[in-house]
Amino acid sequence: MKEKQKSLDISIVIPVYNEEENLKELYEKLSNVLRVITENFELIFVDDGSTDNSFNILKGINTVDKKVKVIKFRRNFGQSAALAAGFDYSKGNVIITIDGDLQNDPEDIPPLLKKISKGYDIVSGWRVDRKDPFFTKKLPSKLSNWLASKLTGVNLHDFGCTLKAFRRDVVENIKLYGEMHRYIPALASWRGISIAEVKVRHHPRQHGKSKYGITRLIRGMLDLITVKFLLSYSTRPLQLFGIPGIISFVAGFVIGAYLTIGKLFFGMGLSDRPLLLLAVLLIFLGVQFITMGLLGEIISRTYYEMRGMPIYAVKEIIDGVE
Ligand code: UDP
Ligand code: MG
Repeated sequence: MKEKQKSLDISIVIPVYNEEENLKELYEKLSNVLRVITENFELIFVDDGSTDNSFNILKGINTVDKKVKVIKFRRNFGQSAALAAGFDYSKGNVIITIDGDLQNDPEDIPPLLKKISKGYDIVSGWRVDRKDPFFTKKLPSKLSNWLASKLTGVNLHDFGCTLKAFRRDVVENIKLYGEMHRYIPALASWRGISIAEVKVRHHPRQHGKSKYGITRLIRGMLDLITVKFLLSYSTRPLQLFGIPGIISFVAGFVIGAYLTIGKLFFGMGLSDRPLLLLAVLLIFLGVQFITMGLLGEIISRTYYEMRGMPIYAVKEIIDGVE
């Protein structure tokens, strides 16, 4: 709600990890595309601990063009951290993220901006014809996109496309831990925002290597669990843990009661009853779940209250005061 005085129209944020052969061309393409739209832009390259010549190349570009800003990390912190640093540093009213390897096409930026100007808060690229290997990239990404849409209720075909445009206030309150950058639209959806999707081009990688392999699928799934939890239960964890907790406890209790009654009144032996183990297990689990939920409640309160974060998002207030 607070209005910040920002002076730029557009900030482009580019995560860079060992992309020495791509940077010059990317810079030229980006600035050609942007200069047609506005002079009021900045290109923020975040060097995520590159061990090649990337930083020197970026420094060189900065000496001839001050629209280019370079943030150099002390070591490799990952693409999410690089994007977060770019967001923090940026001054634009609209922030656009794009890969540093030329797989995204700067020519696709104008269509994204067009959608933003129509009032959308986030416009996400959709690589309809993705030029990546099938088994290590395209198939896993199909799976995780499907799952992510189902779980988060945000229907995007391509969460993983870095080429996205955001209105500044959308990213201002989002913290990117782990590998969360793919799920910014989902995380932001909590606030009730409008999201559009635009088909974009995708090119095969010409220089350098991909930084990710098949393990990204597993890491992506874990991230998705976090996103789902943050979206649906972060302010009410006991609701999530309490239900399985109660079911488990009651089931254990009923089985335990059945065995106890059998033993006390009908002389049933308990030494060869695996059911007894199950009853104990279920009761234990139930208590664990509920305690975990309660701990979660306390942690969640600390989390929101310490940071002074509201648990709601207001779009407008009309109170009749002039
Ligand atoms: N990247 C980064 N830090 C990392 C890994 C990747 O900044 O730890 C950058 C990388 O330089 C590129 C973008 O993130 O600009 C996407 O990475 P990559 O092209 O390797 O991913 P892929 O396209 O293969 O999924
Ligand atoms: Mg790439």
